[in-house]
Amino acid sequence: MLTDYHLHLRPDGSDTTPEEFFTAANVERYLDAARGAGVEELGVSEHVYRFHQALDVWRHPFWVEQATDDLDAYCEFVRSTPLRLGVEADFIPGAEDRIRNLLEERDFDYVVGSVHFVGDVAVDHPDYDAWGTGGDPDRVWRAFFGFMAEAARSGLFDILAHPDLVKVWGADRPRPERDPRFYYEPLVEAIAESGIAVEVSTAGLRKPVGELYPSRAFAEMCVEAGASFALSSDAHAPEHVGYEYGRAVELLEELGVGEISVFESRQRRLEPLG
Ligand SMILES: [Zn+2]
Ligand SMILES: [Zn+2]
Repeated sequence: MLTDYHLHLRPDGSDTTPEEFFTAANVERYLDAARGAGVEELGVSEHVYRFHQALDVWRHPFWVEQATDDLDAYCEFVRSTPLRLGVEADFIPGAEDRIRNLLEERDFDYVVGSVHFVGDVAVDHPDYDAWGTGGDPDRVWRAFFGFMAEAARSGLFDILAHPDLVKVWGADRPRPERDPRFYYEPLVEAIAESGIAVEVSTAGLRKPVGELYPSRAFAEMCVEAGASFALSSDAHAPEHVGYEYGRAVELLEELGVGEISVFESRQRRLEPLG
């Protein structure tokens, strides 16, 4: 079985409206693309910060600018389609209770947990660049993987998104000199303890880094730690559904992973991969 759980019906940017993208016709485009890519199960996970309810969780200027939609209208719309209902929720340290309330009040099939921001700066947003203020790469990487470990341990999420997103810029940002496994280690430990599913995402192939998330070394450590995996493209347009899935499946098969996580009503089961 192949699944694609981390996708967005609406592209990033402020010049789009829910009326334009949360439509049956747009969902049909994603379902068509999924059929073409051999993906049996599709779920949508819009960014939580696009909904005004997220401002109860965090009021970063980026969120204030982005939070225009209604989360319940989104849930209702997705429930009227064949898509699984998910959401991509950022982990904000100190806001765990508020995040939990927001998530538990709704009947998601799964929640994708992300770290984009480390404090007030982001690892993947040039306007709030984590490296912009002379941030040294060792500090940025430690902070990112530390936040990710906390996210895994929080128990708030079912799937840990783009586990090594901090590499997104590739050669365009300085990288620490140490072996990256030094940074992965605390996160892999948290993954093993929490049992959260690790996302293998082909989105990194479309970014400057040009690699899958996570790296092979990270995936190997997860396999050794007994982690389970989920598959996604992080599509922001129909043509991204199942994008380069051959690469993701090949990595998992090479590491001896034969099953992927499937979610319904926040319950996980494992299905044969492929
Ligand atoms: Zn993300
Ligand atoms: Zn995403």
